[in-house]
Parts: sequence; C-alpha cells; structure tokens
Amino acid sequence: NQAGLAIENSQLYEMVREKSHTDSITGLWNHGFFQDQLMEELNKAKAKNEILSLIMLDIDNFKKFNDTYGHQNGDLILKEVAAILKECCRENDFACRYGGEEFAVILTQTKKETALTIAERIREKILEHPFYPLNSQTCSNITVSIGLATFLEDAQTKEELIAKADQAMYIAKFSGKNQTCLTKN
Ligand code: GH3
Ligand code: MG
Ligand code: MG
Repeated sequence: NQAGLAIENSQLYEMVREKSHTDSITGLWNHGFFQDQLMEELNKAKAKNEILSLIMLDIDNFKKFNDTYGHQNGDLILKEVAAILKECCRENDFACRYGGEEFAVILTQTKKETALTIAERIREKILEHPFYPLNSQTCSNITVSIGLATFLEDAQTKEELIAKADQAMYIAKFSGKNQTCLTKN
C-alpha cells in the first residue's frame, strides 16, 4: 500500500509540476518556464561552444480581431497559432507563450540562417492557415511579425538576446508587419 501511495504521490507531483510550466490556453510552455529554460540552454551552449537562436513572434492586429470576432475567437486563434508553432518545432526546441499574443521559440543548436528558414516556414504556415471564427460566416486569415536573434553573435546574455529578438520583431512591425526581421547590431 505504501509503495502504491508513493508512486501515486510522485505521479501527482509530476502532473502538478508539468501544469505549473504550461500555459493554460495554448498548452505551450509558459513565461516562467521560458525564462528558466533559456538560461539553462544558454549555459549549455556556452559550455559546449554551441549556437542558439531565439524567435519572438507577435500576432498582427490582434486587438482588431478580438474587437471584430470576440475574445473567445481570439483565444481560438492563440490555440491554432500554438499548434502551428509546435508543428514547426523540432524535438529539442521550446515553443512558449511569452505573454498576451506574443510567443517565443528557443531553437537549440541552430544558426541564424536555419532559424530564418524555420521562422519563415512558421510565418507562411500561419498566413496560409484559414481561421473559421465561431458564429461567423467568414473565413479569416491572420499574419504575424517575427524577430530573430542569435547567441553569441548578437547577444552574450539572456536579457540581451531577448531584447535583440524583440527589437528585430519591432523592426518587422514598423516595416509593415507579416515579415521576419533580423536584429541590427
Ligand atoms: P500589432 O499588430 O501592432 O501587434 O497590434 P495588436 O492589435 O496585435 O497589438 P495590441 O498590443 O494593440 O493588442 C494586443 C491584444 O491582444 C489586446 C489584448 O486584448 C489581446 N490579448 C492579449 N492576451 C489575450 C488572450 O489571452 N486572449 C485574447 N482573446 N486576447 C488577448
Ligand atoms: Mg503584442
Ligand atoms: Mg500584436
């Protein structure tokens, strides 16, 4: 009985631990997990002299989508974007919800050129994906703006890497949205 209880407890502990790292709407890794995992991956990359790239992605005109179709449909968009991110990620990558309609993807052992290909694949898949809002006859398409930065060439610390990817994402916004941009050094 005691052994059974111990197993049950450890399974329960694992479930709670997993839940505490997961974003409830999208099922992606949450912000807290993202920060911890990025730190860990950067430390590994440093120790092994490896490259790592970070993608920051923001849904374009999401407020307008919410205003037009309602927040429940907005939540559905977040779920569908998350599913596309998962589909485009490899086993050792981490697709995370950074917050609101912003997502981050940690691409381990990935140089800038490869990260750019992955980012463009994500952007195009989202662009081509038809969204069917509930209680609406229309089919809607959404676009995303993506920023990309690479460790060690663009940044030496976690904070700097996030800031650089963010900066690149804002360049994509100000250049007309629906595009992937690299950071300026
Ligand atoms: P931009 O193209 O410049 O990114 O414009 P935007 O409208 O996407 O950005 P803005 O920051 O103006 O609005 C973001 C919106 O995202 C506002 C907020 O209500 C919505 N949002 C944030 N989190 C959630 C969520 O969990 N669910 C839903 N449905 N909406 C959310
Ligand atoms: Mg935003
Ligand atoms: Mg937005």
